[in-house]
Amino acid sequence: MCLNLETSVQYLKGVGPKRKQLLNRLDINTIEDLIYYVPKDYDDRSQFKYLRECANGEKSSFCVEVTGPGIVLRPRRGMAILKVPISDGLDVGYMVWFNQEYLKYQFIPGQEYHIYGSKNQRGMEIQISNPDFEKKEESKKTGNIVPIYALTKGLTNTQLSTIIESALEEFGGEITEFLPDDLISYYGMMNRAKALQILHFPKNQDELIRARNRLVFEEFLVLQLGLYHIKNKTLDANKGISFKNRDLLNRFIKRLPFELTRAQKKVITEIQEDMESKNQMNRLVQGDVGSGKTIVALISMLQAIGSGYQVAMMAPTEILAKQHYESIKNFLEGFDIRVGLLIGSLKKAEKNLINEKLELGEIDIIVGTHAIIQEDVKIKNLGMVVTDEQHRFGVKQRNALSEKGKSPDVLVMTATPIPRTLALILYGDLDISIIDELPPGRKEIETYAVGMNMIEKTYDLIEKEIKKGRQTYIVCPLIEENEELSIVSVEELYKYLSEERFKNYKLGLLHGNMKAAEKSEIMRSFELGETDILVSTTVIEVGVDVPNSNLMVIYNAERFGLAQLHQLRGRVGRGEHQSYCILINDSSTKIARERMRIMQESSDGFVLSEKDLELRGPGEFFGTRQHGVPDLKIANIFQDMPVLKLAQKEANRIILEDPDLEMDKNLNLKKRIEDKFKEVEDISFN
Ligand code: ADP
Ligand code: MG
Repeated sequence: MCLNLETSVQYLKGVGPKRKQLLNRLDINTIEDLIYYVPKDYDDRSQFKYLRECANGEKSSFCVEVTGPGIVLRPRRGMAILKVPISDGLDVGYMVWFNQEYLKYQFIPGQEYHIYGSKNQRGMEIQISNPDFEKKEESKKTGNIVPIYALTKGLTNTQLSTIIESALEEFGGEITEFLPDDLISYYGMMNRAKALQILHFPKNQDELIRARNRLVFEEFLVLQLGLYHIKNKTLDANKGISFKNRDLLNRFIKRLPFELTRAQKKVITEIQEDMESKNQMNRLVQGDVGSGKTIVALISMLQAIGSGYQVAMMAPTEILAKQHYESIKNFLEGFDIRVGLLIGSLKKAEKNLINEKLELGEIDIIVGTHAIIQEDVKIKNLGMVVTDEQHRFGVKQRNALSEKGKSPDVLVMTATPIPRTLALILYGDLDISIIDELPPGRKEIETYAVGMNMIEKTYDLIEKEIKKGRQTYIVCPLIEENEELSIVSVEELYKYLSEERFKNYKLGLLHGNMKAAEKSEIMRSFELGETDILVSTTVIEVGVDVPNSNLMVIYNAERFGLAQLHQLRGRVGRGEHQSYCILINDSSTKIARERMRIMQESSDGFVLSEKDLELRGPGEFFGTRQHGVPDLKIANIFQDMPVLKLAQKEANRIILEDPDLEMDKNLNLKKRIEDKFKEVEDISFN
């Protein structure tokens, strides 16, 4: 068989079925994965010191001669101390091991070794405990910068490093360059094969930085060009619809029960300009929870409807779709506009009826879930599509919805405030509007992070609020199989609360595994105020709007990222009552404590998401491919911002020169982009 970078790791020398499994656990499947398995850190062993230069307790590399045979001491039964005498020319000392006498015969007196370990001064005696060692002329691990990999049980750093080394030896020749020659020579960039080699086996810091920058650059460049391409494919600048009629929406705005905020007005204007122009709109509206995105979307939809088109709005969950449906219907009372709901749990006959009406153009606004993008759904004259809570949809689904019409305008709404820079990467294909203001009169949500020892007090607070007529959400993390049992299970908690602590009140239970009909019944009852406490998993995270509930209690809060905690907290503080958020956790990790502190201090979604990224690292953020963007394996958008800027600049230059990447020098680059994006999205340039 012909071996290449796509080949499974199991064909590599030294990798049997067992090793293969271990590697797979690290998400390493192919030779390429292996070569791209980036060290999470490096141990700089390149600096040698004399024994006397090294501080007590410090780790360093030393070059020493073994001056005599090892001595084994047995201070008590079952304990053996091996001491091998060494000299670095200035001082003498010992390498010391516990219970590893067999090492005694590894050393040849008179031979020079590179060793790496920490120095311990014991009285007059210098000891290097448990050092790594190699013969001077064979040294690899010492005198070098040693990569530290994320490991899995059963695989050591040295083993993994050796496997990677042999992969590079056997397959290094297969690593091809894909950056255009002129770019490489202009920046004097290292070639790709060499950069990858150095990433794993750097000789010094300078070299390592250059290699890394080169690889970070190529990742960013591929990302930017790929996103640009998606944008260009989806959008046809000349084929958009020009929605000219604003009568309907003006009438509507006049009748609104409240004044739009300055930020809402600004965003509406931006959208209106897009919609009026002949270009196809592709706009992202970002606004913190409660900033009033729904009404902005609705007003925009009225411009399409007033101009004679149908619009579709897609939400990620049935709960949310229903809620939008209800609130849109309420807002439109007295207007002659036909609103429909299409969700998976409808009966077949109901679905058929909706489908029929859509096809005949007898529904003006269709609100729904993924059900809308099913193939059999045909919409007569679809002029605009809105997706809510975009972070739950991929680029692909967004496109599938657009394809129900002829170049409809696209509006995407998200409550996940994404730092501007990241937004440019993730949504490089969208224009962005930001609603950076909340409607007036919102009270700050009081947030407290507490331990389980405060749980009774928390229950007292819940009871007090219920007695005032308010409602409470209690959220538990989803438990996955095989997880430790310290995590509170939503079902057990519900059982305890409803049968004991709150047995005189009405409780509801909501989680993802319930049938849709059950879920909506529970939600309906909570919305109507019939339920006092809703115990739930994070299914309520997005969009749910029950102004009368003013208390959010989150169990195992340490399990959630800041952005998610913020989303959950945003479920309260929607009405006129003072709201509270109680974060319960007993975690002592630094990150968890830091998160809790930040949650108590800030209610600004942008600040929180920026912090969230910092604390988690972008790896995790990008880990979810739901963004429709391939993972970044090496680049870190914080650390590597200068390289990102450079890549953006070069991407723009390339696009100007060769928009479809048809020039010979760009062909390999094009192939690379197609390959990378294939994982998330089929983009092909032809
Ligand atoms: P989100 O941005 O989280 O989707 P919503 O659109 O659900 O926010 O709006 C939250 C609540 O605020 C809704 O009840 C909505 O009717 C109300 N609202 C929206 N805009 C305003 C405004 N300008 N003044 C007062 N209330 C508003
Ligand atoms: Mg919303």
